[in-house]
Order: sequence, then C-alpha cells, then structure tokens
Amino acid sequence: MSSANIEDRAGVSVDFDVVVVGAGFAGLYALHKLRDQLGLSVCVYEAGDEVGGTWYWNRYPGARCDIESYCYSYSFSDELQQEWEWTERFAGQPEIRRYLNHVADKFDLRRDIRFGTRVVSAIYREERSAWEIATDQGTRVSAQFLVAGTGNLSAPKVPDFEGLDDFSGQVYATSRWPREEVDFTGQRVGVIGTGSSGIQVIPELAQRAAHLTVFQRTPNYVTPLGNGPMDPEFQRYIKQNYGTIRTRSRQHNTGVPYDRVQPSALDAGPEERRRTYEARWREGGFRFLKDAYSDLMVDKDANETAAEFIREKIREQVVDPAVAELLMPYNYPYGAKRPPLETNYFRTFNRDNVTLVDLRRTPLHGIVPSGVETSAMVYELDSIVLATGFDAMTGPLLRMGVCGRAGRSLAQCWENGPRTQLGLMVDGFPNLFTITGPQSPSVLYNMPLAIEDHVNWIADCIRYLRERNIKTIEPSVESVSEWGSHTNEIANSTLLPTGHSWYTGDNIPGKPRAFMIYLGGAPRYRKICDDIAANGYEGFILGRELTTG
Ligand SMILES: Cc1cc2nc3c(=O)[nH]c(=O)nc-3n(C[C@H](O)[C@H](O)[C@H](O)COP(=O)(O)OP(=O)(O)OC[C@H]3O[C@@H](n4cnc5c(N)ncnc54)[C@H](O)[C@@H]3O)c2cc1C
Repeated sequence: MSSANIEDRAGVSVDFDVVVVGAGFAGLYALHKLRDQLGLSVCVYEAGDEVGGTWYWNRYPGARCDIESYCYSYSFSDELQQEWEWTERFAGQPEIRRYLNHVADKFDLRRDIRFGTRVVSAIYREERSAWEIATDQGTRVSAQFLVAGTGNLSAPKVPDFEGLDDFSGQVYATSRWPREEVDFTGQRVGVIGTGSSGIQVIPELAQRAAHLTVFQRTPNYVTPLGNGPMDPEFQRYIKQNYGTIRTRSRQHNTGVPYDRVQPSALDAGPEERRRTYEARWREGGFRFLKDAYSDLMVDKDANETAAEFIREKIREQVVDPAVAELLMPYNYPYGAKRPPLETNYFRTFNRDNVTLVDLRRTPLHGIVPSGVETSAMVYELDSIVLATGFDAMTGPLLRMGVCGRAGRSLAQCWENGPRTQLGLMVDGFPNLFTITGPQSPSVLYNMPLAIEDHVNWIADCIRYLRERNIKTIEPSVESVSEWGSHTNEIANSTLLPTGHSWYTGDNIPGKPRAFMIYLGGAPRYRKICDDIAANGYEGFILGRELTTG
C-alpha cells in the first residue's frame, strides 16, 4: 500500500482520502465501499494480525453467533450470498472467521490493510482540515476522513482482581484467546463471569477440565440457542429468496425476518401464553425475546411472565434445587442485560465435575497464587478463565486517543456519557465517522446489517461532499443534544435502562452511566438517517471554506 499524497482542490496534500480503523465486519466493508465503489484512497489499520475483528480475537471454545448465520452475514453482494455455504444454523467462530477471510480474498482487501498496527492517536488539524493519525508502529499519516470501525465489543474490560499477577497457574481471557488450542485435560479450571461469553465457554470447559468452578455474580436469563446443522433444503430456499429475506430483515428491529410477534403477553390467557413461550423456546435464537410478545420490554408485568417461564425452565433442567435457585435471575427485567443464548449451559451444572460459586453470598476477595479467594475459602486452581466482558460501545473509541477541534479530546467531550448525532458523528470532530457508534441501534440490531447501513450512509455523505467541493462535515451542538434527548426518551420508555450492564456502562467502575443504544428500532432509525441526508444533511455544519493556518 502506498500513500496517495493527494493534492486536493484547495492545494493541501493528505496521504489518504480516508483512514479506516479496524478490519472486522465494519472495516472490511468500509474499505470495499470507499475504495472500490467511490474510488477513494483508503488505508486500514488493524491491531490484530488478520481480518475478523470479534471473530479474530474471541477464539474460546464455544464462541459462536446467536443471530442465524444466514442473517448474520453481509448482504451487499448477492454473488457472495450465493456462493457461501453455512454449515450450522448459528456459525461457530472458526466458520465466521473463514467467511471474513473469504470476503477479504474475494474483494482483494488485504493489500490496503496494515495488520498488527494499533492507532494510538488521531488528532484533527484544523489548519489542514485533516486528521493526523499515529500508530504504535511509528507511522504517522494524514487523511481527510477518519472512519472508526473499531467495534462495540473490542476493548476488553481490564481485570481489576487484586493479586491476579501473582497467580501461579495460567490466566486466559475469552476476548483474547490464544491461537493454539489450550489443553485443559486433568486441570482444575475456574471461570469468572457468566455473561454471554461465559455461558458459551462453560459447557465446553466442563467437558475438558478435571474440575470446573464457575464464579457467578449475576445470574442471567438464558434461553436456548437451538443450534444444529444447516438443513440443505433451507439453505436452497434462502438462496432463492435472499432478496426478500433481507428486505424483511431490514424491516424488523432485530434485523432478522421474524414475523410472529403478538401484541401483548398480558392479553393472552395463561395457556395460550405458555404455548407461545414453549414454541419460541423450542425454535431458539432470539425468537423467545423478539418474536413472542411486543410488550416484554416495555411492561414490567408482561416481562415477568417471560422471566418466570425462564425460571421454570431452569428448575426443570438443573437437578439440585439449591443450585437451580442460585442460577435464577430475579432482581432485574428479562432483556435489560444482554440475554445470552445457551447450548447445554444449565445442564452443565448437573455434572459431578462442576461447582457453582455464588459471589453475591461469598464475594470474591482476590486472586492468590494457588487460586481464587472468596469470603468463604480459597478455590485451588490450575487455570483461570476470565469471561469478564468489555468496556463496551465507547471503550474502543476512547482508547484511540481522538482529539477534535481546539485539541478537545473525545474523553472530555464524553465525560458525562456519549454525545453523538445518530451515533455516526460527534460535534467538534469534523469528518470523523463512527460505524455503529453509541446511540445508534448497533448491538440490538443484526450487526452486519447495522454496519452496512452506516457504511452506505457514510459513503453517500462523502460522495455528496466531494461533488460539491465541501471540505468538512460535523454535527451542530443542537442536533447532538436533540439526538441525545430523543435517544434517552425512547430508552426511558422501556425497561432496558433499569438493568445494570455494559448497555449502561455499569460494568466499568467510574464509567458514566448512560444507555448507549438507540431503541427506536432500525427501520425508524434508517428513515431518520435517510431523511437527514435527503435534506442536505440537516443538523450538520458543512464547511465549504478551508481555513489555512
Ligand atoms: C463473542 C461475541 C459474539 C457476538 N455475537 C454476535 C451475534 O450473534 N450477532 C451480532 O449482531 N453481533 C454479535 N457480536 C457483536 C460483534 O462484535 C459484531 O457482530 C461484529 O463482529 C462487529 O464488527 P466490527 O467490525 O464493528 O467490530 P469488531 O469485530 O470488534 O472489529 C473491530 C476491530 O477494530 C480493531 N481496533 C479497535 N481499536 C483499534 C485501534 N485503535 N487501532 C487498530 N485497530 C483497532 C480491533 O482489533 C478489531 O479487530 C458478538 C460479539 C462477541 C464478542
């Protein structure tokens, strides 16, 4: 890759039209769209050694998507949709990684990606109307546009357990799993954390380890994934109908073609409700949450009907009633934390080699050389697996050292929580685009589709600017404030902000509490974005004049 050293019409030279950060689903599509369809010079920086993002880093046993694979994939190329064969209903990490490598090959993307290179600072130079980007490899380049494809779940939470460095065994993190297979045979293994990753890794480790101890702070509402081999007949059907399936997916808030949701759990009688919940439970995926009743996330009583059904299912699956009780979530609504989907999770606690430790009753004191110490005792371990989650949504952007106009850092701008217009741009940070940024539908939508929507919007925006010789775009302070109020108002009309999780930043000590996802639904959100663009980027300031310094 060579820098383009582009002399723009105003006579200021930049190395690239666009620098993209990240080579996951977002960065890969951004590169293809901006380079191959808009003809821009694009350079991508990726901290990992290969493409894949989430699916490069999270290689732990059991890692897989929980949106159906035929939906959890790009829709931008029908040729790609037709040629790729998914082998499972919900693809595992190796298969998704293969898929993204195939995409990188097919569209010849690697030649413009610098791997093993982390962006450590991105500073907006007002005198040049350009971003200056520095990496941990000593590179320094400039670009007119900076596109962050840094992901929502790519900055692991820094573990804050006292004594972790003194542990005499091995420590693994699900979010930074080693490339080579880890052999846990004969080992006493402890897993800390029972969020989505913990719930995927625990059944796998129980089969490999001599003994597995699970340290749980908050029990989760977990429903079945319903994975299995892809039915060839269904695969044929999808390929013949992909256009319609994608259209229907885009019309749904979750980005999947679910279509049997009923208005109210409370209007249905107990028998009918049970039948509906049973059916959705059997079907798996997010059908139980998203395709049963539409008032589950807005009405406490409706939510409780689903919550109680899940508790009953836990009682049915876990043989020891005392253990079942510990696994039961009570004091927050179903869906207010990211609902994990499981394969054999609850039944794993029936195994003789698995122990559940309830950290609410016996809090974790720290790590000692021989294992994990709680208020009750020391659990002797050979390996510790941290499934402790991410500094989600804002973490990856804040860790990139972004400074906008007048040297104001993103951290300063977001000291009370993220402020954005549409989750796509930030006031005072011209020409910085954040793919699936905070306050957009992002993680509560099917991410590849959310990413495509954003990249398409960004590409249209850049094309618009270029055609009119406009140098910069940034949202007005007012539009950012309005978007924040709108986002909060919708969130507060639901039960979601009542949970304490990475949705709200509560999992990171000191992080300002804010609900970081747009809950108005992707179809409504897309229309708002499209209308703003159609109205000449209403609410944005377009900089026609170049200030020279
Ligand atoms: C275990 C797991 C399962 C998931 N399952 C689903 C699912 O079923 N459905 C769903 O919709 N979503 C799921 N997600 C969310 C998932 O993150 C997205 O679906 C999707 O992979 C995001 O793609 P991305 O390109 O935006 O971000 P990522 O895949 O996170 O890629 C971002 C990349 O940016 C790089 N990067 C970040 N900062 C820098 C920097 N400063 N310099 C250089 N490089 C940098 C990172 O190394 C990373 O490779 C899951 C997430 C996890 C962790």
